[in-house]
Amino acid sequence: TQELHIIGGGMAGSEAAWQAANAGISVVVHEMRPAVGTFAHQTGLLGEMVCSNSFRSDDHEQNAVGLLHWEMREAGGLIMRTADKHRLPAGGALAVDREPFAQSVTDALMAHPNVRVEYGEIRALPRDGHWIIATGPLTSSALGEAIAAETGAEALAFFDAIAPIVYHDSIDMSKAWMQSRYDKGETEEERTAYLNCPMDKVQYEAFIDALIAADKTEFHEGETAGYFDGCLPIEVMAERGRETLRFGPMKPVGLTNPHQPDVKPYAVVQLRRDNKLGTLYNIVGFQTKMKYGAQADVFKCIPGLEEARFARLGGIHRNTFLNAPTLLDGQMRLRSQPNIRFAGQITGVEGYVESAAMGMLAGQLAAAEIRGERLETPPDTTATGALITHISGGAEAKTFQPMNVNFGLFPPVEGLKGGRRGRKDRYKAYTDRGKGDWKAWLSGAMAPA
Ligand code: FAD
Repeated sequence: TQELHIIGGGMAGSEAAWQAANAGISVVVHEMRPAVGTFAHQTGLLGEMVCSNSFRSDDHEQNAVGLLHWEMREAGGLIMRTADKHRLPAGGALAVDREPFAQSVTDALMAHPNVRVEYGEIRALPRDGHWIIATGPLTSSALGEAIAAETGAEALAFFDAIAPIVYHDSIDMSKAWMQSRYDKGETEEERTAYLNCPMDKVQYEAFIDALIAADKTEFHEGETAGYFDGCLPIEVMAERGRETLRFGPMKPVGLTNPHQPDVKPYAVVQLRRDNKLGTLYNIVGFQTKMKYGAQADVFKCIPGLEEARFARLGGIHRNTFLNAPTLLDGQMRLRSQPNIRFAGQITGVEGYVESAAMGMLAGQLAAAEIRGERLETPPDTTATGALITHISGGAEAKTFQPMNVNFGLFPPVEGLKGGRRGRKDRYKAYTDRGKGDWKAWLSGAMAPA
């Protein structure tokens, strides 16, 4: 059949349905709520915001998430249009009145002549027809198991374990250095794959104290989590013993600090490249439940990271997500079963806005395919394109964890001043370039059939 079926009417599923329906495709949205709930959703409405009522920064000149807003507005997106309608005063952020927002999303889809909503849980993977799975971080367990049976259990995670990610150009290389432990590796690139930040005893002891004292977030009620081996929060490791980290992720062995070759570091914090562009580095083993404000303070105590800017702070949440770089093709299709696309948080993006953007793209790609056309994904100079490029192969597959949109995912604009002073101009250059490229892409994507 030429219908498009979408499982999940959240941020991504609602936007995907809207885009495809507006492209003239018949869409069926399958939503399990209200009959089957999750620990976070409160209503049976489509497009429900499960926690904060903010879509974050609306600044489309200086902020990557603001650029994503701008791109979705240009594409006639339902989530942005409805958010604008129910906007609440919140400075530079786009905050909304959540109930009327979700009610409006629901009404708009219900009223659309090309959309039908069917309530009920989908428990198995569909075999035929065109499908988008947009069941989010709290995908029902039956469907989660069905997906894992197709992808292999190791390629579908049920919790994330997010270590903070730092912009490479904000690291002080007069203190840090590049070296893999024991210089391991076949190539020069592998032998220098890690970025190391040394600590002496006083710095280490102060760091442990700061970790233990920092404010932590609790798991949500119902979000029961046993920590699994190998991904304990860093502060829990510190609480288990003051030396645990020095014998774990911060062990100082196999490394020589070229800035002080005669001084053996007491502990070493290691960062590893997080994307192919080399603009982002994650702090190895530093997944954490510390509150965001506390994280920035604590991690800036690390020598070399005093001025660090974070592309993403750490976290651990209940979160169903695919190892997208290995499982999905560039068209967001499951390689092993290409009649199924994935969209939203389950593809390994993080956040309402990112999820909606991946819904927008999946809806457009599916619509084009059903019409017998092929739509190329947008270039990685746009915010939507940067995200899809990252999850479909730009990210390191082995250590893949969910990602927010940020300028580190964009190819650098050449010929601009670096450093703090040049940052405003640089971000403006990114967003100007992105807008031009988005308009060009969109004029092809939205061309009448
Ligand atoms: P969802 O919006 O969750 O939509 C998925 C839909 O699929 C749901 O309606 C669900 O009922 C339905 N569904 C699931 N399984 C099935 C099935 N088998 N059959 C039919 N329907 C099914 N992001 C932020 O930006 N800000 C926040 O404050 C924030 N807080 C969060 C708090 C929690 C507790 C969680 C879990 C996530 C949070 N997120 C937050 C992350 C994320 O951005 C949101 O969860 C976002 O809603 C994801 O969009 P989505 O469309 O992928 O999933």
